[in-house]
Formats: sequence, structure tokens, C-alpha cells
Amino acid sequence: LQKKWTGVDIPSAQYGGRHAVTMLPGGGIGPELMHYVREIFRFVGAPVDFETIEIDPSTEGNDDLDYAITSIKRNGVAIKGNIETKSQGLDEVSRNVAIRNELDLFVNVVHCRSYPGIPSRHKNIDVVLIRQNTDGEYAMLEHESVRGVVESMKVVTVENAERVARYAFEYARQNNRKKVTTIHKANIMKLSDGLFLDVAKAVHKEYPEIEHNNMIIDNTCMQLVSNPHQFDVMNMTNLYGTIVSNVICGLIGGAGLLSGANYGDHFAIFEPGTRNTGTAIAGKNIANPVAMISASTDMLNHLGHKDHARAINEAIYETVVNDGIRTPDVGGSASSTDVVENILKILSKKRVNW
Ligand code: ATP
Repeated sequence: LQKKWTGVDIPSAQYGGRHAVTMLPGGGIGPELMHYVREIFRFVGAPVDFETIEIDPSTEGNDDLDYAITSIKRNGVAIKGNIETKSQGLDEVSRNVAIRNELDLFVNVVHCRSYPGIPSRHKNIDVVLIRQNTDGEYAMLEHESVRGVVESMKVVTVENAERVARYAFEYARQNNRKKVTTIHKANIMKLSDGLFLDVAKAVHKEYPEIEHNNMIIDNTCMQLVSNPHQFDVMNMTNLYGTIVSNVICGLIGGAGLLSGANYGDHFAIFEPGTRNTGTAIAGKNIANPVAMISASTDMLNHLGHKDHARAINEAIYETVVNDGIRTPDVGGSASSTDVVENILKILSKKRVNW
């Protein structure tokens, strides 16, 4: 092991202290949620200018995608909805995965925290999911070796396993967390998951004050449903990460609440934690805007605009918890715009020295 985690580059502000950020609304509910983000940022005077790029999933070429990647490379930061992968054709690559791979966003972080008052199976969940974001089962290397026999490659490298494990332990150290649990299936996938686990154990040696244990993915799902409070920080490969994040988001209140962040050494993308498109609820004014607005405050924090982020986060919390203004997915009857208007109302009363 060699790599030391030095953190993500933070882009410097431009004229007037403003940041340029790439906005990829994606499909389904993405565009309406981005509209709310823009509205709130305008209202609080957040010093951010969005460069919006629509990626049309029905187009054949990759011009939109290339343009989006160039824009993120220029700006360093993006906020993103989910981009649909329309065709099932073999040569059709998920643009979401392509963006993460091209920008080497090796880690996905989802902080799963319960909101008091939202109907859920367990209260007071507070778990941080750290997921390998670029290889593992998402290597997209599949082929039909002979007719009727398909092979799919799961790629685990020491380099990426180390980067994600180091991120997990460093996160635990810096955020006063006590334990990291590495999730795997090394009893069956002895080489690939075995390597992921061995690397995590080796990285742990540099973090003796933090407890490290490991758990098999199937048992993890059962333990999450029965006793999620035993988990603190979780470190896992790509596919297990998407399963576990959906389980925990379901335990807390569904797809509309939690945000997720994707980091590499140079770039960062912020998005809803479970990356849903929400095609069926688009345009109905019922999508929960909280996950995307939380993604936007994660982004403000990343850029150093902490006062704006704190004020918006407090307004979200007051709206959902104190005022009980919630969309139907979390047991309420409010519309998306009711939630956003209440957030704006609370923000208008705050006296913040931006
Ligand atoms: P698809 O590509 O078909 O849209 P998906 O994997 O992106 O599928 P969705 O079906 O979009 O997943 O989302 C899963 C579930 O979560 C759906 O019931 C959807 O309505 C719900 N959901 C996703 N985002 C939100 C949100 N912001 N507010 C409320 N419900 C949401």
C-alpha cells in the first residue's frame, strides 16, 4: 500500500467569489428538481452560476456526454439527476457510469440519517456508506463467449480498493466515527472480494483507533433490516453499495430524502443518494425535492459556501420535521412546490450574514 489520501481538489472561485457548476438535470423528475435548486440558490444569493447541459438519452452519438464531461472538467463540480439508459443494445453504455469512469470518481458517499417524525421501521439511523464507484461489477465487460454462455467481469484492483478503504477510514477519523465495516462475499468470490477485504484490513493498520470488522453482503442486508444501529461507516464494492444504499434509504423513508456525493482526486458530482429517474412521477408535482436540495447543499459545503448550506439545511429540516410539510412518499400530502415554498418562507425569515 502506498497511496495517501490528499482529498479532492476544490475549484477556486471566479470573479466576485462566484463558482461555475455544471448542472445535468437528467430525465424523469430531474429537470423539475433542478428548477427548485436554482430557485432556492437565487433566493439566498448563493454565489453559484450553473452551466446546464441536457443529455438526451435517445440520441445516437455521445456529443452531449462529451460536452458534459468537458464542462465538469472545466468547472470541477457538478450537480446531477439520473440520465436514463434507453436502449438495451449491447453497445449502449450507461452515461451515468461513463461520466463516473471518465472523471475517475472512485468513491460514492451517502450519509444515511433518519429524519425524526418520518414514518419508518427504525428510528435514529446514522450510517455512512462508502462505495467503490468505478469498477467492481460495473466494469461493463460482458461477452457471450459461445452461444448461450455469457460472462461478466467483476474487476477489483488494489489501487481502487485501497483508495476507497482509505477514504472510509479517513472519513471515520475526521468525523469522529468509531467503526468501519467492510462488506463482501469473499467466502464465494475468493479472489475479487478476497482482495477487496485484504486491502481494507491492510489499510486499517494505519488507523488503529478505529474498529474494523467485516460482514458478508447477504447477512448485511438481514442485519440492516433487523438492527441497523450496529453500523457506523460501511466500506463496499460497487454493486453491494447500490443494494445497501437502497435498503437503508428504504428504512429511512425512500428515494426522495437522501443525497449522495461522488469524489475523485480532481472532480466531484452531487446527486440524490439512490440515483432514481422517477419517470412515473415526473411532472405531477409530487416528487420529494429534499434529496436533490440536500445534494445542492453538499455541493455548497464542498465549495466552501458553508453559511448558505447551513441555512438551506436548517430550512429543509424545519419544513420536514417541525412543520411536517412532506410529500406523499414520506407519508405527507404536500406537493413538491409546497415543500419548496415552505423552505423559501423559512429562509426569508433568517438573518444570515452571507
Ligand atoms: P426508472 O429508470 O424506471 O425510472 P429507477 O431505478 O430510476 O427506474 P425509479 O422507478 O425512478 O427507479 O424510482 C424508484 C422508486 O422511487 C419509484 O417508486 C419512484 O417513484 C420513487 N422515487 C424516486 N425518486 C423519488 C422522489 N424524489 N420522490 C418520491 N419518490 C421518488
